[in-house]
Amino acid sequence: MPPSGQELVETIQRDLVCPTCGYNLRGLAGLHVTCPECGSRWDVAKLVALKWDKPWWKAPGLKTISLPSFFACNILLPFLFFSDDTGILLAWTSAAFAGWLLSLYLSWRLFESMRGVYLAMAYSVLIPVYLTCGTACLVSLIFIVLYLLHNRGVPITALVGVVCVVPLYAGRRLEKYIAAQCIRRHLERMGTAQGTTLGEVYTPPTGA
Ligand SMILES: [Zn+2]
Repeated sequence: MPPSGQELVETIQRDLVCPTCGYNLRGLAGLHVTCPECGSRWDVAKLVALKWDKPWWKAPGLKTISLPSFFACNILLPFLFFSDDTGILLAWTSAAFAGWLLSLYLSWRLFESMRGVYLAMAYSVLIPVYLTCGTACLVSLIFIVLYLLHNRGVPITALVGVVCVVPLYAGRRLEKYIAAQCIRRHLERMGTAQGTTLGEVYTPPTGA
């Protein structure tokens, strides 16, 4: 079985080394640590996010944050297929709406603040961006290939597709940001569970 997001965070955290001097930072308490060897101060969540080499959706808690976007899609979906049947429309849409509210509540509970709700809302933007811009890029790619093969003028569709790379790139950045926030939140929660103070700074022993 592939390791869970939590296990991945733990593995990375266990092998964190000071980027300045290479000293192993294992066992230092708090979300911000000071390297006992060289005195550099590090944000543990940032270091873990930098070392993260798995897909972003694997970040612990990201499934919770992405759930509202799933329900948001389902609020609108039945209008495409059952626009004539008011009964189905009403049942489907209200169920999806209830799911959306519940999943937003779960996002809020994960972060114990509105931050979770904002992140979930931001994540909801990703799906339409990926769908529309991704499609535009694919279509544009076909036009570009056709142009290269037949040497006809580049149609506007190709240009639109090239421009659509920008929102796709921005979407990836946003996804990465949200995942990093989830990793940070997970570390915070683990810190709470272990009884260490949030943001506690390790002070190196004096005279060492
Ligand atoms: Zn160091």
